[in-house]
Parts: sequence; structure tokens; C-alpha cells
Amino acid sequence: MTMSVKELNGVGPKKAELLKKLNIETVDDLLAYYPRTYQDRTNVARIIELKDGEEALISGRVTRSVLTGNPYRKPTLHLLVDDGSGVPLEVLFFNGKWLASAFKIGEEYTFFGKAEVRFGKYTMLHPEYSRGDAEGTDAVLPIYPLTEGLRQSDLRKWVKEALKALDPEKEYLPEALVKEYGLCPYGYAVQNIHFPKDRKRFAESKYRLIFDELLMLQIGLLYLREGEQSETGIAFPGSVRVDEFVSALPYALTGAQNRVVSEIIKDMESQKPMSRLVQGDVGSGKTAVAEIALFKAVKSGYQGAMMAPTEILAKQHFAEMKRIFEPFGINVGFLGGNLTAAKRREVLAGLADGETDIIVGTHALVQPDVKFANVGLVITDEQHRFGVNQRRLLTEKGDSPDMLVMTATPIPRTLAVILYGDLDISIIDELPPGRQKIITKAVNEKGRIKAYELMRSEVESGRQCYIVAPLIEDSENYEVRSAESIYEEVKAGFPKLKVELLHGAMKQAEKDEIMGRFVSGETQVLVSTVVIEVGVNVPNASVMIIENSERFGLAQLHQLRGRTGRGKYQSYCVLVLGSDGEIAKERAKIMCESSDGFYISEQDLRLRGPGEIFGTRQHGLPDMRLADLAKHTKILAVSGKAAKEVLSGDSGLKKPENALLAGEVKKVFGGKLSIQI
Ligand code: ADP
Ligand code: MG
Repeated sequence: MTMSVKELNGVGPKKAELLKKLNIETVDDLLAYYPRTYQDRTNVARIIELKDGEEALISGRVTRSVLTGNPYRKPTLHLLVDDGSGVPLEVLFFNGKWLASAFKIGEEYTFFGKAEVRFGKYTMLHPEYSRGDAEGTDAVLPIYPLTEGLRQSDLRKWVKEALKALDPEKEYLPEALVKEYGLCPYGYAVQNIHFPKDRKRFAESKYRLIFDELLMLQIGLLYLREGEQSETGIAFPGSVRVDEFVSALPYALTGAQNRVVSEIIKDMESQKPMSRLVQGDVGSGKTAVAEIALFKAVKSGYQGAMMAPTEILAKQHFAEMKRIFEPFGINVGFLGGNLTAAKRREVLAGLADGETDIIVGTHALVQPDVKFANVGLVITDEQHRFGVNQRRLLTEKGDSPDMLVMTATPIPRTLAVILYGDLDISIIDELPPGRQKIITKAVNEKGRIKAYELMRSEVESGRQCYIVAPLIEDSENYEVRSAESIYEEVKAGFPKLKVELLHGAMKQAEKDEIMGRFVSGETQVLVSTVVIEVGVNVPNASVMIIENSERFGLAQLHQLRGRTGRGKYQSYCVLVLGSDGEIAKERAKIMCESSDGFYISEQDLRLRGPGEIFGTRQHGLPDMRLADLAKHTKILAVSGKAAKEVLSGDSGLKKPENALLAGEVKKVFGGKLSIQI
């Protein structure tokens, strides 16, 4: 049923455009657009009973409706609702002008949302709403994520219409599998996820759909993995030693670095292609480990490649490697996204004829026209930033080269299995000696002055400072301080300091210049968005101020904090909280108490769920609509078993009973993975 949504009653070109914003173009897309939550209509609360922070359904008359605002702000719609409780409920819709006509004074409406109760005032911000009994008799109503201009009632109506045309017995999984795993039919599950008839049917349906998502995911990944294994790789000779390189480093390796290096060397010397993940906290010295492996590869007569997730980081690795490798007669090249055509040709030629021994770059390295003479080792730095596919494309540049991936993000076991499959894992669990703990403090708006005083005094004694903000410029929609406005403030407030602004919307060349001036010490204070998050190394920087720190994930805050404390100076991190919510405070507390990346990331997973942390989208993994990789570990295991069973009897999904399933897997993964079914 790939019918366009325009075939549905009431979907004209305008509504179709809005639906497209939600990635809904066909009736199938609409059916796969699952509710965010549900409203239980048998459970109407009274305004006077509302509790702060809890979701509730209120039914009452609108007694007042006004738009307020000034010419610079989009107007807010204020409603007062009376349900006979004796106290009114105030309902607010920011930017709500388009909604004003939906409410008529004196009419009954229902509102569903989170209540705020402060000093006897009852408020709901952007609740779901519907008029009187316009929604029929369903006891439970779905609530969909919306976009401006669409109403819950619209979506409900269209979904209902689409469901009418759906056969409740519809199925695409092979019959045997449905039986073995006790699944309800697909059509039935879709019906009951939108309009559940009762709890039991809802539970069965949700289970079935989560099972499906995790099954597809694992079938797709098993496919990929099969390609990655098997072949024999390069056995780098044991006679090629790395000692001369190690002793040329300006420091002695830590015990953990030594251990990981020997694990890597052992893999390199074996015939089997290495697939190893190196996990090590921020600042644990992963780069040196990578360099040693590269040295071994080059001295054995092969080329090496290192891919980093950002231009800034790739450039920094390049500069360091050039300096450290050139005395050994090793040529290091750079390939980024915006080289001139002539320069790019030159770099590609050097790679193809073997003149370049080591290439450092961004994902520009995986473009089809990049050819190596004989690449023997490929490394991806900060792996969590790349898709499964990019890692694979890089290894395909050689004839089964050894592969090393490095990450500072510790990955919980369940996710590691999915993201990295059967990679071997090495852990650098020790920081180089002499590192001082970064003193971390959380302050509110008032404490900011002190943070800036700290910045001034540190800069006066020769250090440098980062200030990070979540947004580039001010936005009406968020009450968050932007990098631009902070930059203006700091410049005006501290005219003697050399301050620069860096953000993601700048041209690459400009970013590089600004970063270059910070690395060289010319710039003292760098105000930026998270572009500096990963890997950047400026040992002289001793202060990190993070504005609206509640907007960042813990793992990200840990990464940001790790930009300081990289040299011999005592360093400081100040989290400026723009919210006094409980979760914000709890997160800040974790940061202040712990400097252990593994612990922090576990807490992050607990507080936020895995989707946001790992940004599954960036991994090239399909979107999870209902499944939660951290929560649904049991279903993950069961569906994993099912995935293996399906493929073991029919590795190409060619049998007729698997035809529909094959189509579905392909659809789910789209062009994201090179799956040939
Ligand atoms: P990360 O693991 O976060 O990528 P880096 O490789 O960038 O960390 O190393 C962080 C800093 O520590 C660098 O300045 C590096 O030169 C230094 N470093 C690495 N290993 C050691 C060591 N064994 N002793 C002292 N300093 C080290
Ligand atoms: Mg690094």
C-alpha cells in the first residue's frame, strides 16, 4: 500500500506538505508513525487536584482567550479554563496565533498535558487538546508528535481512515517464525498501537512491533558482518620493531598504553585481519597508540590511513604526525573536504603511487576516487561519530587491511554487540602520570560572574579558556544563551583579552584559521559551539566554561571538559546551569563528583536512553521508533536468535517464504547500508 497520503480525506496539498515535514508521504508512512503517548479518557482529573509535574486530562469550558506579546516576539495564546473546581487552569501556547481560532469562549474542551502548579496557580504549557466530544467514543486516544499547523484530531482522523484499509491479518514474517515466537499478526499490531482496544492487545502489539524493529536491525547487521570476516589478511612481520619510534616519543608510555600496544602488535602479526576497538577515556593517550601501529605498518612496507570525524581534529592529527614521522623518513599527507581541485589531485596521486605513507583525513577518505597503492592499516578515531558504513568503506580501500577503531565513549555491552559486532576490545584504563583532576563546579546564572573572574585570572597567568554554548545565535524559541551573544559580552566586558568566536556554520577555512590562532596561543578565549568537542588538544587551556550545560549530554560534557587538563596546569570546568530542574541538578552533580568516563556514560545512558547518546542516525542504523536498545535487552536477545535462525536457513533471503521479509529489511535500511538482498 504505497498510496500517497493525498488520497486520504482532508489531506490537501497544504496538509500534505506539513506531513512531509514529519517524513510522512505515503499511507504506509502514516501507519508507521506511532503515537508518542496516549490519553486515557476514562480518567478525567479536576483542576484543583492537579499535581506539579504530572500529566493529566482536564475537561472544561474556555472562559477567556487572549493573544499577548510585543512586536518583537511571536504572540502567546493564553486561555483560561473552568471545570467547576473553583480555580481556573491557565493554558499557554507560545507562538500560538494560528491556534486562536480553534477555541471558542463558552465551549467545552479537553486538555491533556503536564501540569505546573506554583503558588496556587495551575498552568499547562502546550497541552494536547480536543473539542467537546468531537473525538468519538474511543477510551484511549493516541497522541502523535506534531508540527506547527497540524492537530491531533487531524492525525487521528487520517490514521483511522488508513487503518480501515489495512487487513488485520496482514503479515510479512514467515509463518513458522510468527508461530515460534508467539507474535500477533502485523496488521493487528499496527491497529492496536494506534487505537488500542485494551491493555492486553496493546501489550501484544507493542511487543510485536519492537520485535520487528530489532529483528530487522539484526538481520541487516548480520549481513554486513558476514562480509567483514572470512578473508585472510596481512601478517606484518615480527622482525619490524617499533622500539625506535616509542623511544622517540617525548614521554614514556603508561602501563595501559604498553599493554594495548602489545595486543595490537600481536593482531597485526597474525594472518587474520585485525578488527580491534580501543576504548580509552579522554586524554588517555590513544593517539600515541595509533601512531605506533601506523609506524609498524609503514615500516613493513604498507600504507596507513587515519580518519577523524571533524576537519579540525584531522588537521591536528596531521600536524602532529607530520612532525613526529618525518624524522623517520615517513611521508604524511592530508585529505579533507575542501582542498582545491589541484591539491586534491596531487594528494590522490601520492596515495595511488605509494609516495604517501600515511594519510590523515576526514570522511573525504572514503570517497570512491580515493585509491591506495597498498593500504595495510586503517584507523578511525572517535569511532562513535561515524556510521557503520563509513568504517566499512575505508577498509574496502585495501585488500583486507587491519582495522583499528578508537573511541572515548565507553559503550555498554548490549550496544557494543550491535555497533561493533565481534570487534576485539582493548581498554586504556590509566591516564598519563601527573594529570591533575579537573576541578568541576556547577553554578547558576548568578555564579557566572565568578566563572568569568576565574577565566580572567587564569588568562592573566598565561593560560587559555574555552566557553561553550549550545546555540550559535539567539533564538526566540529557546531561552538559551548563544555563542554570538556571549562572545559580544565577553569582548565588551574584558576588552584586554583576545577573544574569538568559532561555530559550525562558519566556512572551513575560517574555522581552521580561528582554531590555529587558539592552538598557537594568540587567542586567549575561544567562545564556541560544540565544534570543538572531540579530540582537540591544546595543553595550555585550563578553563572550560559551559553555558546552559543542561542542554548537553553527560558524555558530551565529559568530552568538553576533557579539552582542559591536557597539560601540566591545574584546570577548571564550570557548568553554568540555565535550569534548576531536578534532572539538570543530578547531572551536574555527577559531573562534579566523577571524572571517570565509563561511570559518566553509564549514568548518561540511565538518564537519557541510548538513542540520543549514540545518535543512531549517525551510525547508519535504521531509526528505532518503539525499540529502546538499553531497555529492551530481552527482546533484543530473542529477536537476535530469530535473526540468526532466518539467515542460517537462507543466507540470501532468497526463499519464497522470506520474500516479504527481505523487502521489508531493504526498506528499513534504505540506502544506508550496502545490503544486497
Ligand atoms: P585521547 O586518548 O583523548 O585521544 P591524546 O592521544 O590526545 O588523548 O593524548 C592526550 C595528551 O596526553 C597529549 O598531549 C599526549 O601527548 C599526552 N600523552 C599521551 N600519552 C602520554 C604518556 N604516556 N605520558 C604523558 N603524556 C602522554
Ligand atoms: Mg583522541
